[in-house]
Amino acid sequence: MRRCSVLASPQPVAMSDTATSVTRRSTLDLGPLRARFAGELITPADRRYDDARRVFNAIFDRRPSVIACATNASDVAVTLEFARRHDLPVAVRGGGHSVAGYSTVDGGIVIDLLPMERILVDATARRVRVQPGVTWGELDRATQKHGLATTGGRMTTTGVARFTLGSGSGWLERLHGLACDNLLAAEVVLADGHVVTTDDSENADLFWGLKGGGGNFGVVTEFEFRLHPAGPVLIGGLVLHPGDRALEVGRFFRDFMRDAPRQVGAGLVLMHAPLAPFVPLPLQGQPAIGIIAAYFGPIEDGAAGLAPLKDLASPAVDLIGPTSYVDLQAITDAGNPPGRRNYWRSGLLTELSDEAIDTVITCSPTVTSPASVLVLSPIGGAVADVPDDATPISGRTAPWLYHCYGIWTDTDDERHIGWVRATERAMRPFTTDGVAMNFVSDISAGRVRRTFGDEKYRRLQELKAKYDPENVFRLNQNVTPASP
Ligand SMILES: Cc1cc2nc3c(=O)[nH]c(=O)nc-3n(C[C@H](O)[C@H](O)[C@H](O)COP(=O)(O)OP(=O)(O)OC[C@H]3O[C@@H](n4cnc5c(N)ncnc54)[C@H](O)[C@@H]3O)c2cc1C
Repeated sequence: MRRCSVLASPQPVAMSDTATSVTRRSTLDLGPLRARFAGELITPADRRYDDARRVFNAIFDRRPSVIACATNASDVAVTLEFARRHDLPVAVRGGGHSVAGYSTVDGGIVIDLLPMERILVDATARRVRVQPGVTWGELDRATQKHGLATTGGRMTTTGVARFTLGSGSGWLERLHGLACDNLLAAEVVLADGHVVTTDDSENADLFWGLKGGGGNFGVVTEFEFRLHPAGPVLIGGLVLHPGDRALEVGRFFRDFMRDAPRQVGAGLVLMHAPLAPFVPLPLQGQPAIGIIAAYFGPIEDGAAGLAPLKDLASPAVDLIGPTSYVDLQAITDAGNPPGRRNYWRSGLLTELSDEAIDTVITCSPTVTSPASVLVLSPIGGAVADVPDDATPISGRTAPWLYHCYGIWTDTDDERHIGWVRATERAMRPFTTDGVAMNFVSDISAGRVRRTFGDEKYRRLQELKAKYDPENVFRLNQNVTPASP
């Protein structure tokens, strides 16, 4: 999905979130903004408007008044000033993957960071500086030239930006922590247009808030990450079994992960088997249970470490073997094209009991769309090593996460969303009150507070009052400013 001056081919999607507010802003005089803005400004009058306003989740068919394709921090600052002067709601877009639709807005202004795509790898220092229009696929390809990586999304088109500012979770997390745990510094444009740099010693309070506090405090125009040796070739891939083996495979996987070293990143997926040549014909399109796993270490150790997954009950598909890190990171791409409708929920599990596994498996056959999936992800390892107060992210010691991804192509939103919510209700006895922020479509203000925890939420509110007292950045899992 490309935007701004890079034209995308139209996606044949049905969209129901049609808005009416374009005309409300049709008298907006963009002249003063154009005079100071180096990038491209796209309005409803432009031929490429429909491509430019499209986001990953087709539920959100919103019509911004202006899409400001920012090329640098100054473009971001002048756009913010213009938006505030005209009282326009502001949406910030990195990769456009927000399932909650936060990166677009009816009648407001989208600051689209796509043109900011610079990546500077310092292989000697094992660091990378990256601008916010970059996706994980682009960053992985750049760092893998040096055999390096940092924890990134499990799909190549996810934006580095909000992924990192949220609960950024990837295959490498058990070895190297969440994305924000590898963040070393950031450049931020604040709501008042000031550009500041942040790290552990400079504007350290803001830096703390960025590590999981969402896009609440400003627009990040550069991230600096720590890199680690990974790949370029490792052992990883997918095994797939027919759905009637779900109980056996699910419990086996839970026990396997209990003793697995942190070099193993993995997930259990209940889905419909892809209509792909690598799947035996009788299983194609049928309920299936898969394990995706990777071993981040020497090939021989990986082959031995993942062998039990290959040995279990003769899988119908066994693609676990040598693979490049870049290909591993793209493993879920084919199953998640843009332009489908998405509604997601997730929860942190206190433990993965037999009952919790049974419940996930029981929810699977009631699924309303063959594209929807249920996932169980083991956490632990380096994620749990980070002290609770080191970042806004709470619930680090939870051993497992469940994800319920409702994904469909028709317009019967109510039915598909109903299935996701019913699954969430069924899983409630096994979950804490917190969620993994990157994996939820909607979340109440109370749940945001409970996810951070009262103490950290208060600290975030103080930061919000200091850095964004007017709540300019409110299209997010919002932290309201502390009262003066
Ligand atoms: C198919 C798919 C796979 C995914 N896989 C994973 C996964 O493996 N692990 C995981 O943790 N998450 C995953 N996610 C969730 C993903 O991390 C979030 O949706 C995240 O918001 C994507 O980042 P983005 O830059 O594309 O977001 P966008 O949609 O561009 O932005 C959304 C929000 O972030 C804010 N924002 C964006 N850029 C900036 C910036 N530079 N500065 C400040 N605020 C900003 C916006 O204000 C907005 O609130 C996945 C999502 C999808 C759709």
